[in-house]
Amino acid sequence: MSTEHISNTDVLPAPEIVEVSDGIFAYIQHDGSWCLNNPAFIDIGGQVIAIDACATERRTRLFREAIAQISRNPVRTLINTHAHLDHTFGNYLFAEDAVIVGHRNCRDEIVRDAPGLPERAKGMFPSVDWGEIEVVAPNLTFDDTLTLYAGDLELQLIYVSPAHTNTDAVVWIPERQVLIAGDIIFNQGTPFALMGSVAGWLTALDRLRELPIATVIPGHGPVTDASVLDDVGDYLQFVQQSAQVAYDGGVDPLDAARDLDLGRFGEWTDTERIVGNLHRAYSELRGEPLGAEIDMASAFGQMLEYNGNQPLRCLA
Ligand SMILES: [Zn+2]
Repeated sequence: MSTEHISNTDVLPAPEIVEVSDGIFAYIQHDGSWCLNNPAFIDIGGQVIAIDACATERRTRLFREAIAQISRNPVRTLINTHAHLDHTFGNYLFAEDAVIVGHRNCRDEIVRDAPGLPERAKGMFPSVDWGEIEVVAPNLTFDDTLTLYAGDLELQLIYVSPAHTNTDAVVWIPERQVLIAGDIIFNQGTPFALMGSVAGWLTALDRLRELPIATVIPGHGPVTDASVLDDVGDYLQFVQQSAQVAYDGGVDPLDAARDLDLGRFGEWTDTERIVGNLHRAYSELRGEPLGAEIDMASAFGQMLEYNGNQPLRCLA
């Protein structure tokens, strides 16, 4: 049996740079499925601010090369939108020259989970060539909001958790009406609330709807506009409603997921996340606090069962 690594250059289009507004770039990693996140960068004011790293050493090095092709300016700041490894494993490739900014919870979670994390990632996504990952957490943290500037351009970091995780911040650029959403927005991919909160995520979307958003750089999937907030919201409401019926009927999350017709959401990538999302919705139906610790091993185990005991499809 071959253990050869399948990379996106074999089966997926190469990453793509999209200038969404003057000096603001999305780095789109197709097809946005597990661990294929979208970092971004802002080249304004004589230095570069990057938003998120990538999952693997190879992908983060490619991202850095892409920045260098556009800009001669140094990357002095890296923002982490949340703690997940596909956005933060590459932090160490920025750490020498850049301040790494994240919400307090983002730093705390990365520090807490760091021991053994690369090994656990290998266990979860065995086909991925992670490289020589060294886990590095943000070294500048904030609590609700933080304002920083790219030259004269104001960037607002807004903490919106519990939502996708308990560590989420979005980057809002008012003058350009650009939202760099992290994983608060999956575009054409299944939102994943297992490590955050379904109800809290809906609240976060309501909060973002108050902003005059023209352009969204999602955490996964193509660049889009504000209508994507409704797509994510519709899915999360579908999860809540499905969970309510199944929970009242005494059906466990895996069986509930198997019985569900995902409808248009079935066309998105990583549909098995419905199982994890139902686990999170059940926790909320039990009256547990939003974002409470729940049994991740059992939820992930059931996601694999839903997939016919195949590993999660990951092309990072
Ligand atoms: Zn994430």
